[in-house]
This record gives sequence, structure tokens and C-alpha cells, in this order.
Amino acid sequence: MDILMIVPASIIVFVLGASIGSFLNVVVYRLPAGLSILWPPSRCPHCLNQLKAYDNVPVLGWIWLRGRCRYCKSKISLRYPVVEAITGLIFILVFLVFKVSIFTIGYWAFCCWLLALSLIDLDTMTLPNPLTQSGLVIGIIFQMVVGFLPEASWQGLVNSLMRAIVGAVVGLWLFEAITIIGSIAFGKAAMGAGDAKLAAMMGAWLGWRYLLLASFIACVLGALVGSSVIIRSRQKLAQKMPFGPFLALGSVITLFAGNAILLSYMKLFFPAS
Ligand SMILES: [Zn+2]
Repeated sequence: MDILMIVPASIIVFVLGASIGSFLNVVVYRLPAGLSILWPPSRCPHCLNQLKAYDNVPVLGWIWLRGRCRYCKSKISLRYPVVEAITGLIFILVFLVFKVSIFTIGYWAFCCWLLALSLIDLDTMTLPNPLTQSGLVIGIIFQMVVGFLPEASWQGLVNSLMRAIVGAVVGLWLFEAITIIGSIAFGKAAMGAGDAKLAAMMGAWLGWRYLLLASFIACVLGALVGSSVIIRSRQKLAQKMPFGPFLALGSVITLFAGNAILLSYMKLFFPAS
């Protein structure tokens, strides 16, 4: 793409991403509480006054209200503009890597699901079924579209569908196995059922190879963060830590760098080939 086009295009993409990030904040807050996502419109959780449209502008709204509700002056968490900004930046990153393509649209959706699931897991230690299941279904549909589109081939569609299903099944099995090994080793469930469903969703989106890579990255990051938490706070090993955010991070890293990581891995162990 023309360098002169990239800057304005990126600004539009950022605004789109930040607006969707604003909606993700609503989903993360309301879905675990069993509230409707679409109604009522955004309002202050303290005084329940509906937000004005210009206060609801992603990132900027929070800044010109100086982080306080217009009506009751209670603090609005810094997390809201941060989530909006992160979503905007992820959208730009996906757009710059995958350009104008079906992949960009698909991976925007994938990243939104991962971000919402991570935040809910951090808040509540759960990964809601409606999100993991819808993410799985959309992942399978995405793979079918990707398989069908280039040559309008039904064979391509079927192949991609099979790849998505194999990825999802490997995801379920992998975490079933980790749970069984964990329960033998530690006498308790190491993973929640939600983690297996998230892994199934990741398998559909990434395919089984990248799913394994993403899970491996998640385990390494989880072990690093987990051990530093234990050292700093002297918490017991048994202290529960949500694993969803690490799986999500592993997925995003794999999305952007999976190919490069696998290639350098191959070069390291099979230099002749
Ligand atoms: Zn208020």
C-alpha cells in the first residue's frame, strides 16, 4: 500500500478498533453479570445516568472528563480508555500485517473475542460459554470462507472446514490431557473446563500446529508470571491464576510471528534442510 495511504487508513482503523473496544468494555462488564449487552445504552455504574454521545467517544471521552462521571463525579476506571486504545492498536497491527483482506476482518474478530475473554477471566476466573462457543463457530465459518474464496472451490471449503475441526478437537484433547496429568501430579484440576473450550476455539482459528505453538507460548509466559507472583507475594503454588489471558497472548503472538518462530525453530534443529 502507498505510504501516503497508510497513515489516514491507520487512523480510520484505530477509530474503528477503539469504538469496538468501547463495546468490548460493555460486554466484559455485563456478560458475566447476566445483563443485556445491547440495552440499556452506556451509563455510569454509580448514578446510572446515561452517557452523552460526546462523553462516550473512545479514549477522548475519558480524557476530557478527566476520568470522572459528568453527573456524580465518581471515578471512571482507567481500564476503559486503556482497553479502547489497546483494541485500536491491535486493529492497526492486524491491518498492517494482513492488509486489505478477509484475514484482516477475521483476525480483528478473533482478537476481540480473545481480549473480551481475557478481561472476563481476569475479573471472574471464568470463560463464559456464550463467548467461547460463538468464537468457535465464527472461527470455523472464517476457515470455510478462507478455503472457498480464492478459487471459489468447494473442495477448498471442505479442506478448511476439516482443518478447523481437527484444530478444535486437538485443542479439547490437549487440555483434557493437561487436566488429567495435572490432577495426577497435583491432586487437583490444573485447568478449568473453560480453558479447554478456549483452546478448541483457538484450534479452529489457528489450526492444530499454531494451536500447539500458542499453547506452548502460553505455558512459558504463565510459568514466568506465575513464579514471579509467587516469589514476590509468597503466595502458595495452589493459588489460582487465570490461564485464559496467557492463551490469548500466545494466540496473538502466534498470529503475528508464528511462521517466523516455526521457521527459526526448524533451522535450529534441522539446519541442513
Ligand atoms: Zn455517575
